[in-house]
Amino acid sequence: MTNTDLDNFRTETRAWLEANVPQSMREPMRSENDANWGGRKADYSKNPDQKRYMDRMASRGWTVPDWPKAYGGGGLSPAETKIVREEMARIRARNPLNSFGISMLGPALLKYGTEEQKLDHLTKIARGEIRWCQGYSEPNAGSDLAGLATSAEDKGDHFLVNGQKVWTSYADKADWIFCLVRTDKTSKQGGISFLLFDMDSPGVSTKPILLISGNSPFCETFFDDVKVPKENLVHELNKGWDVAKYLLGHEREMISGMGLGSAGGNPLIEGAIATVGLDHDGKLADPLLRAHLALFEVRATAFTAMSERFIDELKAGRTHPAQPSMMKYYGTELNKARSELVMASGGSDALEWESEASANGSAARTWLRTKANSIEGGTSEIQLNIIAKRILELPS
Ligand SMILES: Cc1cc2nc3c(=O)[nH]c(=O)nc-3n(C[C@H](O)[C@H](O)[C@H](O)COP(=O)(O)OP(=O)(O)OC[C@H]3O[C@@H](n4cnc5c(N)ncnc54)[C@H](O)[C@@H]3O)c2cc1C
Repeated sequence: MTNTDLDNFRTETRAWLEANVPQSMREPMRSENDANWGGRKADYSKNPDQKRYMDRMASRGWTVPDWPKAYGGGGLSPAETKIVREEMARIRARNPLNSFGISMLGPALLKYGTEEQKLDHLTKIARGEIRWCQGYSEPNAGSDLAGLATSAEDKGDHFLVNGQKVWTSYADKADWIFCLVRTDKTSKQGGISFLLFDMDSPGVSTKPILLISGNSPFCETFFDDVKVPKENLVHELNKGWDVAKYLLGHEREMISGMGLGSAGGNPLIEGAIATVGLDHDGKLADPLLRAHLALFEVRATAFTAMSERFIDELKAGRTHPAQPSMMKYYGTELNKARSELVMASGGSDALEWESEASANGSAARTWLRTKANSIEGGTSEIQLNIIAKRILELPS
C-alpha cells in the first residue's frame, strides 16, 4: 500500500468512526463494569450503545482488525490496523469488546487450530457471541503450571474431565473455557493437552472468590465427569504445552498493554490538574507530585517505545522468547505506579469507597485491583527468572 492509499484509508476510517461510535462510547470508563465482554450472558438493557457499537465494529471486522476476514476479522495490514487504533484513540473510543478470546485463545487457534475450529470459534469471538475463560491454574499448579492434575480420560469418542481449577477469571460469566488437562501421567509437560468446552456442560460448576476490592472477578472451577467431544482437542494429544506457552506469550503481552495507559489525552495529568490545580506559572501546584508524574511519564514513554520496537521485531520475525516477560514485568509495574499516582493526586478523596462523586470508589478499587497485575499471567518473580535465564543467560 502506498502512503496515499494509507492517507485515504485514514480519511475513510476517521469518517466512519465519527459516524458510528456512539457518544457514550467515547466517554472514559468509570469502572471495570463499563467494559463490554460480550457473550451469551451479557445484559445490554442498561447500555444498548455498548451492543450497537460492538455490532457496528464487528460488521467491519474491526473488533479484530488484523484477523483474516474468513474468521470475522478485518483482514487489515499492520499499517492499516495501526491507523484504526490511532483514529479510535483520537476520539477516545472505548475498546468495543474486551475478550480473552481475542487476546489469548484467538492467536493460539490461528496457529494451532483446525480449519473447522477456526471457522467456528474465531468468528463467534470476533462478533462477541461467546465469552471465554482460561482454565490453567490449579490449587497446586500456579507458577509451576506443568504440575497440573486435572485429568482427561480417553473414552473413545470423548474425554472425561475431572479436577479443579482456581483463579479462573470470570468463570461464572463465561460461556466456554480453554483448559489445560493431563492426558498422560508419565510425562510432566509432555502429558498435557489443550481442550475447549462449553461451561454449560453437565458437571461444570463455579464458585466465586471475593477480593479486597469488593469485587469477585474470579472463581474456583470444578469439573465432575465432564464429557468433552474429541474434536475439541486443539493441536495434538499431549502437545498442549506448546499451545499453552504460545498463548501465555499473548496473555503477557495483553497484560503488559496496561502499562501503555488509556487511549487519547493524558487522564493521569488531567486528573492531577483537576485535584491539585496549577500555580501562577501554569505548572502543577504540588512540586513533589509534579516530579513523580514527570518521572512516570519518562518511564511510560520509554516503555511505549520498547513496546513499538518489539511489535516491529515480531512482524519481522525477529522476536526474542523473553520479550513477553520483559513487557509483562515492566508494563504491570507501570500500571501499579500509575494507580499509586492517581491515589496520591486525589488525596483522601480518592480513598472514598461508596459515593456517587467517587463513582463508587472507582479510583480506590482500581488501585487495589492493580496489586494483582504482577501476579496474574505469571508472577513478576517468574518473569524475572525467565529474563535472567533467556537474556542474561544465568543458570537455572
Ligand atoms: C487477578 C488474577 C486473575 C487470574 N486469572 C486467571 C485465569 O483466568 N485463569 C488461570 O488459570 N489463572 C488465573 N490466575 C492465576 C495466576 O496465573 C496465578 O496466580 C499465578 O500464575 C501464580 O500462581 P500461584 O497463585 O499459584 O502462586 P505460586 O506459584 O504459589 O507462587 C507464590 C509465590 O512464590 C513465588 N514463586 C513461585 N515459584 C517461584 C520460583 N521458581 N522462583 C521465584 N519465586 C517463585 C511467586 O512469584 C509468588 O510470589 C489469576 C491470578 C490473578 C491474581
